[in-house]
Amino acid sequence: KLGNATAKAELGRAAWKVLHTTFARFPVKPTKDESEALRQYVHLFQRLYPCGDCAEHFGKVLAKYPPQVSSRSAAAMWGCYVHNIVNKRLHKPEYDCEQIGDAYDCGCADDEKKASA
Ligand code: FAD
Repeated sequence: KLGNATAKAELGRAAWKVLHTTFARFPVKPTKDESEALRQYVHLFQRLYPCGDCAEHFGKVLAKYPPQVSSRSAAAMWGCYVHNIVNKRLHKPEYDCEQIGDAYDCGCADDEKKASA
């Protein structure tokens, strides 16, 4: 059980990082299969999220705002939007989603070059 607030926050920071980075690396023009994979990934992420209270609340967020999986920018903006819903609930400052830019550049661009070479 992650009853410790520090551990819970650390888990949250790591989880958001993976999520936002995944959206930032999602295809600009995904296939139907890629879009479906991202939709399932987000739903399973919620279902299996190790902090039970967090998962329960995030499930309600997903029910109201289903994952946007039509493109990289749609996914990134959606991710920013739902993170802001969680921020608001936790009395954290709102993040300006227009400023997300390269904030989640994972330095993985070398893979892309190799893949297209
Ligand atoms: P975090 O919110 O972890 O954000 C990390 C960094 O991401 C920030 O420093 C900022 O650079 C950037 N960022 C902030 N907002 C955005 C945004 N909108 N879009 C893109 N980048 C952004 N904790 C609880 O105590 N109760 C909960 O119910 C709860 N539910 C959660 C649900 C989910 C799905 C997740 C992933 C985490 C949840 N957490 C919850 C953890 C919580 O959201 C934070 O991760 C944790 O409190 C640490 O907060 P932080 O201030 O370090 O920044």
